[in-house]
Order: sequence, then C-alpha cells, then structure tokens
Amino acid sequence: MKELVIISGKGGTGKTSIVGAFAALARRQVLCDADVDAADLHLLLSPTVVERHDFRAGHKASIDPERCTQCGDCLERCRFGAISPDLVVDPLQCEGCGVCHHFCPAGAIDFPESLCGEWYFSQTRFGPLVHARLGIAEENSGKLVSLVRKEARRMGEENHADWLLTDGPPGIGCPVIASIGGASAVLIVSEPTVSGLHDLNRVGELARHFQVPALVCVNKADLHWDGARQIDAHCRSAGYAFMGYLPFDADFTRAQVEEKTIIEYNQGPARDAVVALWEKVVRALQASDVGV
Ligand code: SF4
Ligand code: SF4
Repeated sequence: MKELVIISGKGGTGKTSIVGAFAALARRQVLCDADVDAADLHLLLSPTVVERHDFRAGHKASIDPERCTQCGDCLERCRFGAISPDLVVDPLQCEGCGVCHHFCPAGAIDFPESLCGEWYFSQTRFGPLVHARLGIAEENSGKLVSLVRKEARRMGEENHADWLLTDGPPGIGCPVIASIGGASAVLIVSEPTVSGLHDLNRVGELARHFQVPALVCVNKADLHWDGARQIDAHCRSAGYAFMGYLPFDADFTRAQVEEKTIIEYNQGPARDAVVALWEKVVRALQASDVGV
C-alpha cells in the first residue's frame, strides 16, 4: 500500500480539492482526513458514518466542593489563572499541568482525561474514510492525527488497499509532523507567489528531515506563470520531484458547491490537469527517483 499525504505550507491552497479528485481517480484506496483542526474532506465526499469513537487526551482539573476545605492552596499554585476565587476551575483556562491535583491536601481535585473530540470510520462513494472532529479550542491535534492515520493504515491493510490517500494539515507544526512520518511520499501543493516558495521550502525541509520523498505541484499556476516556473526551477535545484501545474479554475469551486470532485463535475481543462497530475504522481511513486 502506498501512502500519499497531500500537504501545503499554509491553508487555502486547494489541497482538499486535489485529495478529493485523487480519491475519485485511485482504485482500491482508503482515505484519511488528517487535517483535524479544519477537516473538510467530508464536504466533498458526503461520508456515511459507520463507527463513532470518543477522542480523549490531556487532563482537566475539577474541584469537588464536598471534599474541598477551602484552604486556597490550589488558587495560589495555579500559574494559569484557571481557578476562580470561589474555587471553580475554568476548563478553557486549565492547561492540565496537574499541580493543583497533586498538592491538594484534601484530595478534592479530580483530574480526569478530557473529551477532546470524536473520530469516525465512514464509507464514501470512493471507499472507506477515517476522519475526526476536534472540539473547539481543544489542543492535542497531533495526537488525533496520529490516531486517525494509524486507524486508516490498519483499515488499508485489512482491505488490502493499494492506496492510502491522506489530506494532511497545513503548515509545519506538530499535526503535519504527525501526518507524514513513514509515508511513501508527500505531495506539496504550492502557489506561484513569493510566500508560496517560502512555504514550500519550509514544508519541503520538514519532509526531508523525516526522510519522506517530496513531490510538488503548483496550483493556480496561470495567475503568475513566472512565479510558477520559478518554483519548478527551485524544485530541480532543491531535489524535489516537480509534478506539474494546475490552473486557477472556478470549476473547482463550482464542484465543491455541488459536493463533487472536479473529476465528477465536468470534462473541463481543470479535470484534465488533475488527471495528468495524478498519473504523474502514480508514475513517480512507482519510480526509484523519489526513493519510494
Ligand atoms: S487545594 Fe484542595 S482543599 Fe484547598 S482550596 Fe483547593 S481544592 Fe480546596
Ligand atoms: S491542572 Fe494546572 S492549570 Fe489546571 S487548574 Fe490545576 S494548576 Fe491550574
């Protein structure tokens, strides 16, 4: 099973449209939405949830007034201002350090694992999807990414899938690190701007650090051909495998509005460009020059 993670240096590059289109083009695939902070692959794929699971991570303090002797020790110790003068913990302020729980002389502070979100096994018209929803203002997204990816891999192995296609998180933080380690390759979706080149370098270095081969495409290339060609040239010098250009095309948005991938939407030039990109990615993953 080849695991391809589609990532970008920032959000809004068209990553999810590309993942949806690849999902429509691949055969024997499992899909994974690892962009758990802003999951949106489900908007294109309209999944039917088959299993729903709680995601618990981190801890939050909670004071039991029945046991509390109102000594005020926790109020003094909390460095995050999470405990009010009337000895109630604000769960949004609590960082889960556990100091109050550890030192409370009355054993009045509970410290349970907190419910941070949910993750799902679903079915889509293109195959199984593992995805998640992180609660508002919740952290631990890296841990949730690791979890959905592990479950997607397990499902792929059970189903003898040929492909695991993962919509990765944007940026270079903990969630993207959790999404790329051990993958067959990443496809970095770039844009033809100065900041696009900068973002490409940051995320490309991350992939290199984790020894994951980096493929690159430029979306909305026709908005600035000079910038797009500059990225192509840069990939050659930096050792990234350049996969091609996608046009700026309102059909991508129109397809999204109809909850379709560009492959299903029409037979236009945007569709042709994505098909050509997919075919090149498949060839690259079968070749040795990206180290797969
Ligand atoms: S340290 Fe424990 S007993 Fe003291 S005020 Fe806090 S919760 Fe109550
Ligand atoms: S767990 Fe830490 S952050 Fe949370 S209330 Fe206790 S001392 Fe404050």
